[in-house]
Order: sequence, then structure tokens, then C-alpha cells
Amino acid sequence: MIPYGRQSIDDADLDAVAEALRSDWLTTGPRVDEFERAVAAAAGAGTRVTAVTSGTAALHVAYAAARVAGGEVVTTPLTFAATASTAVLQGADVVFADVDEDTGNLSLEAAAAAVTSRTRAITAVDYAGLPVDQAGFRALAESAGALFVEDAAHSIGSTVGGVPVGTGAHLTAFSFFPTKNLTTAEGGAVVTTDPELDRRARSFRNHGLVRDKSLQRWPDEGPWHQEVHEFGLNYRLPDVLAALGISQLRRLAAFKARRAEIVARYSAAFASVDDLRVPASPDGAEPMWHLYPLRVPAERRRAIFEHLRAAGIGVQVNYIPVYWHPVFADLGYQRGQCPVAESYYASEISLPLYVGLTDAEVDRVIDAVLAAVRG
Ligand SMILES: *Cc1c(COP(=O)(O)O)cnc(C)c1O
Repeated sequence: MIPYGRQSIDDADLDAVAEALRSDWLTTGPRVDEFERAVAAAAGAGTRVTAVTSGTAALHVAYAAARVAGGEVVTTPLTFAATASTAVLQGADVVFADVDEDTGNLSLEAAAAAVTSRTRAITAVDYAGLPVDQAGFRALAESAGALFVEDAAHSIGSTVGGVPVGTGAHLTAFSFFPTKNLTTAEGGAVVTTDPELDRRARSFRNHGLVRDKSLQRWPDEGPWHQEVHEFGLNYRLPDVLAALGISQLRRLAAFKARRAEIVARYSAAFASVDDLRVPASPDGAEPMWHLYPLRVPAERRRAIFEHLRAAGIGVQVNYIPVYWHPVFADLGYQRGQCPVAESYYASEISLPLYVGLTDAEVDRVIDAVLAAVRG
């Protein structure tokens, strides 16, 4: 079976992890600092980075930093559930707004129409790796007295006019899960250029603990003393995993180039085929493509999907609209509220896309898709 996504691990990655295991630090140590500096270099000028244990943790931390509790978070239904569920866990009500028919990204107009006086954050996902209209969402959030959170789980390495994803939003969340653009096995990061948001993010990652005597309420308690000033969790990324991330980041540009080649090969094969719709071509952006979302006739999507799986092609569907999940349905969210996202979902199939996929395997996928569609 050709998987739909997988990590790319080389000898340098293995050496980096082995070296970390032989060092004094397994958990938070010098490699986390080095990884955070390396992510900041990839995320753009002036960024401050908090490495965490997953993309889900990064979103949870971002919502804690954005102080969404008691307010509303406007977001897209065409995403993994964590984009919305972490906001609920942080005490917000989630309001789903529809997506753009062409890109699958949250529609700026739909998000604007969903904003209320209770909106604390607007969270857009760079679906498949294609950056959203960052300036537009930032301006919309600021006009609403809210923050723009960018779920960039798909898009580390993507750039807009040469500027990397990471500086466009008030808070950006990356994921380093193995199928994503680079990996730390499990891992994520929260990125901001704002010192106060950065402070809150770091605090939430580590139980809200304050060790700096000048900031403590009872600094004379003793040399052992540390205080919890805010509620937080343990979302600390281990040094062993940061070592893998540092090594992986060195190949970010190569990863982006190979993903772009595969996307170009797919799109050249499918662009002129009736019944197939290839991913939107980027408008001013240079995406790091995480997914290859092909659209097929909705009434045949399931048959085509099953044909491809039977042919040994590990396809996926990204994503079932978040509010269809029973946990959201049970809160009263109704089907039909975001019809564009629902029709996108109904016709979407994600094809295999990862750095180690060979041209011969890409051609095998192309042949199987054409056979399934014509079949
Ligand atoms: C993968 C993903 C997440 C969650 O990241 P994990 O590292 O798996 O916790 C969140 N949002 C989107 C859009 C994702 O694709």
C-alpha cells in the first residue's frame, strides 16, 4: 500500500536523536532552545516560538494565550476536529463559518458575517498548505477586538511573497506529526511576534509556574520556591524530539521542493480530465503542499475512493465537517450550516503526498485515479 503521507527520516536524523539520548537531557534542555530558534528562523522575522507536544497542544496554548474563555471563536469546519475542540476545552463557544469554494480555506466574508461582540479569536486553517488571506484575517480580527489565530498545521514552510507563514497572524500553530511537512514524531509549536502572547504561551506550557523571584508573590519563601500564577498544563516537548526537529528543519527547503514536484506531476495529469478538479493554484503564495486534495463527482466519490484503496493507494478524505462529529452534533450544531464546506467534503479525496514518494509511484497513483474515474 502506498500511504497517503509518511515521514522522511535520514541518517542525520538518526544521529541527532542518538546524540540526544546519550546527553544529560531527555526532556526540556538545550535542544528545545535550539529547536525554538530554528523554528523562529523558519517562521519569519521577529517571531518567538514555544515548542509543545503536538499541534493540538499548540492550538490549546494559542487559545489560552488569546483568552478565549467565555467568548466565541469563529473558525472553519473543513479541518481536523482539534481546531475547534481545543477552543471548546478552553471555555469558548465555536461559531463555524463557511469556506471558499475554490481553495477550501475559511472565507473572509463568511467569517466577517459570523463576528459578534463576543468574538475573541478568528481561527483560519491553511488548508492543504495554501496560506489564507493573512492580512485580511488580521484586519478583520483587529476590527472586532479579537485575535487572528492561524492553524498552520499544514503550512510550515509556505510563504506569501517570500514571507513565511508565522508572522501573518497574532498566533500561529504548527504540527510536527509524522504526516505533516516535517516531524518530531509528536510535536508542535506556537508562534507569535507579541511578547505578552509569548509569555502567556510559555506559562501555559509549563503549569503557569513562576521561578523568577522578582515576579513572585512570596519570594522569601526559600530557594526552592516556585509559584503557580495561572492555570496551565505540561505541554513541554522533550529534548529527544527537539533533536529530531532541528535535524528535519535543515531539509525544509528540500521537502518543499519535492512536494511541489509531486503536486505539479499530479496536476499536469489531471488538469484537463473531465470530472476532476485539481487544487486551486496559489494566488501570490508559494505553498508547502501538505495535501493533494483532488475533487471528483460527489456521487462517485465513495466508489472511486474504494477502487483506489483496493488498488493499494492509501487515499484519505480531509475533512468531514467538524460539526458533523457527534460531540458537536450533540451540542446542537446542525448539518447544512456551511454548505460549501459540506460539498467540498463530499467530493474530496487526498492523494498520497510525501517526500519519499517516487515518480514511478506518483505515476502509479495517476494511472489508478484515471482508471477509477473512467471505470
Ligand atoms: C494535524 C492537525 C492538527 C493537530 O495536530 P497534532 O500534531 O496531530 O495534534 C490540527 N489542525 C490541523 C488542521 C491538522 O491537520
